[in-house]
Amino acid sequence: MSSSLPFNTSTILDLFTPLPPDLEQDDTSPGFWAVLQGYSLLLPAESEQVQLPEGALPADIIPEEAPLRIGIWQGKPLRAVRIVDGAALPAGYEALPFQGQDIRLDNALATIAGRAAQILHWERRSRFCSHCKGELIRIPASWGKRCPSCSEVHFPHIHPCIIVLVRKGTELLLIRNAAWNPGRFSLVAGFVDFGESLEECVQREVREEAGIEVANIRYVGSQCWPFPSQQMIGFLADYAGGEVRPDGVEVAEAEWFSEDAMPASPGSKRSISRWIMETYSKNRDSCLISNHVLNRSISS
Ligand SMILES: [Zn+2]
Repeated sequence: MSSSLPFNTSTILDLFTPLPPDLEQDDTSPGFWAVLQGYSLLLPAESEQVQLPEGALPADIIPEEAPLRIGIWQGKPLRAVRIVDGAALPAGYEALPFQGQDIRLDNALATIAGRAAQILHWERRSRFCSHCKGELIRIPASWGKRCPSCSEVHFPHIHPCIIVLVRKGTELLLIRNAAWNPGRFSLVAGFVDFGESLEECVQREVREEAGIEVANIRYVGSQCWPFPSQQMIGFLADYAGGEVRPDGVEVAEAEWFSEDAMPASPGSKRSISRWIMETYSKNRDSCLISNHVLNRSISS
């Protein structure tokens, strides 16, 4: 199921209970720490069992802002802090990227780190009102903020993005972003624009990035993507016309690949891009029989 993808709540359902930020923030009972530097999580180096730091925050960790309790992790308070990008790491700690290949950072730790990063990102960007520049205060029991000066309310900014696997017979469309190294390919993706349904966004993004039309657009799953705060909404679609032609600006290459001769798995190992490709390849026999079967098997 897509809900069990890394960074989605189901991945940590048995480990973590979210709490509203204004509930007992002055509680000083000991607990765990999610210490972030950029999109890396600081963990005790060379320990056999990798776990979040517990107890007092080590003295040589200098948080950029006051710690923020974000919930309960394995029965104890979990507080999130961030240290300055590029700062030397405290003695005995290493920084593991959320999207990295280090197997010690399992999906649960990556997921809680992503959640902490997303929350800290919002907290940093919601100090002042974007309407009148007044200082914002918390709306009780919520991550939302309210402006005492002009009464505007502000809620976490989570940006919807579509991502789509386009197929033509036994061929699949992949693109290479102009900023990526040669040989790296992924699925067509992009932000939802004003006035668009998700299906319209899929059609526009495929048209803009690859120059072709698609039809028979089907939802397959979704993923929280905390880099910094996207909601990735995954689709399958069928080719419906036109010649593949990259835009030459955002997209350097757009090509049909045979299902049997794909480039290295697209996307990072924890991404919905990889999940869509792998789930599709496992279910493609059934999808040749019926789109309905494909839709059911790929989303269950
Ligand atoms: Zn205001």
